[in-house]
Amino acid sequence: MAIDRAPIPLGRGTTFACGREVRVEKGCVFNIQKYSVHDGPGIRTIVYLKGCPLRCKWCCNPESQLEKPQIAYNIEKCIGDVCLLCEGVCPRHNIAFMDTNKVWIDHGNCINCLQCAKVCPAGAIISYGEYREASDVVDEVERDLTFYSRSGGGMTLSGGEPLLQADYALALLKEAKRRGINTAIETCGCVPWKRAEEVFSYLDYAFFDIKSMDAQKHKEWTGWDNSVVLDTFRNMREAYPELKTRVRTPVVPGFNDTEDDIRAIRDLARSYPNTDYELLRYHRYGTTKYTFIGKEYELGDQELDDALFERLKQISNEE
Ligand code: SF4
Ligand code: SF4
Repeated sequence: MAIDRAPIPLGRGTTFACGREVRVEKGCVFNIQKYSVHDGPGIRTIVYLKGCPLRCKWCCNPESQLEKPQIAYNIEKCIGDVCLLCEGVCPRHNIAFMDTNKVWIDHGNCINCLQCAKVCPAGAIISYGEYREASDVVDEVERDLTFYSRSGGGMTLSGGEPLLQADYALALLKEAKRRGINTAIETCGCVPWKRAEEVFSYLDYAFFDIKSMDAQKHKEWTGWDNSVVLDTFRNMREAYPELKTRVRTPVVPGFNDTEDDIRAIRDLARSYPNTDYELLRYHRYGTTKYTFIGKEYELGDQELDDALFERLKQISNEE
């Protein structure tokens, strides 16, 4: 199966696979989550930016991967032959009525024009992602300033990979800083350093995912090897040694659930100041969303062994 991974941007603006480069005034946001206490210090608002260069097989936010808005279809909500509005507006003739009294959508032929989502009265077809001005997003974030002040919280950029929209991430962070809002990021680091560098200068805290030190395995399970991730991480630690950073590893059965894998990442994290290390437990909470966007969840019903995870956590905490 072809991987629909996004190109890694190399310069200013957004670089597409054809090499054309454009500057975006707005960014693509797919969710804003309030009152989070797990994504940085204090109470925080998480701004999820759409687009990711990686295609991790275990990804729990598959709707975050494409760098533009896209449709999601929940067949359970379709009201069938009393409606059929979507069938009539699709420019690709991509939607067909079935004898189950539901429509079927050919996601592979979809151009994500969003026309069907605009007319669906039942909420069966919705759009993941919308383009928004940075100031508009920070206006929404700022409404909870009182909670941030009391708890030491603020705004966290997440994704997807927020550094993929580096100019937009920068605009959000500058605006947040201008309004006195604490800032954090959750990144997989798979964006070249020269593209990401300035973003880190507007951050108070960083979560940096390192999934494996094994380049071949990283490529097999995420679509890219780990060279850009490790280069950006090392550059970030050297350029901003004071930036409080947490390296995180999602522990995935069959991929990186070995003592050697975890020791190797732990040793890298521990070699820098102001850097701690945390393991994240594998889960399958996002599998329904794969069905909604017409994708297959490749890892099936695999589980991570509890005792093994506890052992790996001990190793991650060893000095
Ligand atoms: S988003 Fe896709 S399925 Fe919906 S109308 Fe456009 S092309 Fe057709
Ligand atoms: S517009 Fe929505 S409810 Fe109507 S047929 Fe299409 S998917 Fe079903």
